[in-house]
Amino acid sequence: MRIDLHTHSTASDGTDTPAELVRNAAAAGLDVIALTDHDTTRGHAEALAALPGAGRPLTLVTGAELSCAVGGIGLHLLGYLFDPDEPELLARRELLRDDRVPRARAIVAALRELGAPVTWEQVARIAGDGSVGRPHIAAAMVEEGVVPTVSDAFTAEWIADGGRAWVAKHELDPFTAVRLVKAAGGVAVLAHPAAVKRGRTISDSTIAELAEAGLDGLEVDHQDHDEPTRARLHGLAAELGLLTTGSSDYHGSRKDIPLGYFTTDPEIYGEITRRATGAFPVPGAGGSPLPKA
Ligand code: AMP
Ligand code: ZN
Ligand code: FE
Ligand code: FE
Repeated sequence: MRIDLHTHSTASDGTDTPAELVRNAAAAGLDVIALTDHDTTRGHAEALAALPGAGRPLTLVTGAELSCAVGGIGLHLLGYLFDPDEPELLARRELLRDDRVPRARAIVAALRELGAPVTWEQVARIAGDGSVGRPHIAAAMVEEGVVPTVSDAFTAEWIADGGRAWVAKHELDPFTAVRLVKAAGGVAVLAHPAAVKRGRTISDSTIAELAEAGLDGLEVDHQDHDEPTRARLHGLAAELGLLTTGSSDYHGSRKDIPLGYFTTDPEIYGEITRRATGAFPVPGAGGSPLPKA
């Protein structure tokens, strides 16, 4: 079983539509993927509809990656298998997603001040109906020849955290986010908790407090963690009784990491599905879901 629990589609800042993502995951030989767009579940319906035509049995785990911050440090919380209609979490997702629009407009204005000729119309076209984010703005910067690649936009000079044209977005307190995900029957996993290249990361003691507050796991096997960091996080998770997951954090052509780059242990996946009560993994044609305990 090959299980990839963190992917993005055009519902946020990935480049595959949800249907393309499902087909690509099947073609990559995956058995399970989680669709975890930033602050939205809007891609789920299309992904679910694409399962029967995927070409091989593929199980979809519904989820989202929620933007959070604590003490000025940004972090991402992966919520899996929560009830998408639970009103409080739904309202928070809408707030997070809707606030991205004025924030992206402010980043565009700051870029223009700095002489980068990107426009909001261009960014809006690139984002389409997806939850708009910095990768869309970075793509516009590439189009205008401001930077050669999307990642070159993520520097202090441009739109990295704290960068010259960076503007904060609305973010949830992670303790609130964990509570909301759990209250909606979901499972909460901290995404890339030690991804230092993205900026400051939270301390082990904050992770311990989140574990105390109901956090289920840590995403340990991720491209932004080097080998010593992964070893350290495996140790921390064991100490705190947290599950450990692995994923690609696939963004289509906007990043060069392929689907299934890292994967999650089937036993841990089984435990995630057993803990979830808000939604269930949806098996594609011929697939078989893991039994619920
Ligand atoms: P936003 O959610 O709008 O603040 O944008 C953050 C997203 O940008 C992250 O979730 C990543 O997908 C992407 N990102 C962050 N840092 C980099 C980087 N150095 N290179 C490419 N993409 C990045
Ligand atoms: Zn992203
Ligand atoms: Fe993330
Ligand atoms: Fe992600």
